[in-house]
Amino acid sequence: MAVSRTFSIIKPDATRRNLTGKVNAVIEDAGLRIVAQKRVRLSEAQAKTFYEVHKDRPFYGELVSQMTAEPVVVQVLEGENAVVRYREVMGSTNPKDAAEGTIRKLFALSIGENSVHGSDSPENATIEIAQFFSDGDIVG
Ligand code: ADP
Ligand code: MG
Repeated sequence: MAVSRTFSIIKPDATRRNLTGKVNAVIEDAGLRIVAQKRVRLSEAQAKTFYEVHKDRPFYGELVSQMTAEPVVVQVLEGENAVVRYREVMGSTNPKDAAEGTIRKLFALSIGENSVHGSDSPENATIEIAQFFSDGDIVG
């Protein structure tokens, strides 16, 4: 299987509780490599663009306000089949459905405050990575 990349966000509910290191430990223990990382505060415009696909969903406003309320950590992860692998490591969107040992099972507070984002396809990973990192920022 070829090495590929995915995009990750450690969300405000996790940064607020000082869980960046614990989330990163789960990522690294799963065999994914953090090849770029920075802590940023998303603007409303950035969050709206990032979650545009959900703009007609009832939770969109709440999602944008949560994601902009406090800092996040944006990351590029690298590994074999990185998009699928990281979705496994994250667990289901609703932590009640998440498997044991997944980030969301371990740390999420609710379906909205679910600690991490991960890209859902290689195409979206490329788009999302480019929103936050230039090629020179990523050292594999
Ligand atoms: P995922 O993050 O697992 O890819 P989605 O892309 O479906 O999930 O949703 C994006 C984010 O929107 C979720 O991670 C979560 O923070 C929020 N969200 C999704 N569904 C709900 C919901 N029913 N109520 C509140 N927030 C939600
Ligand atoms: Mg999604």
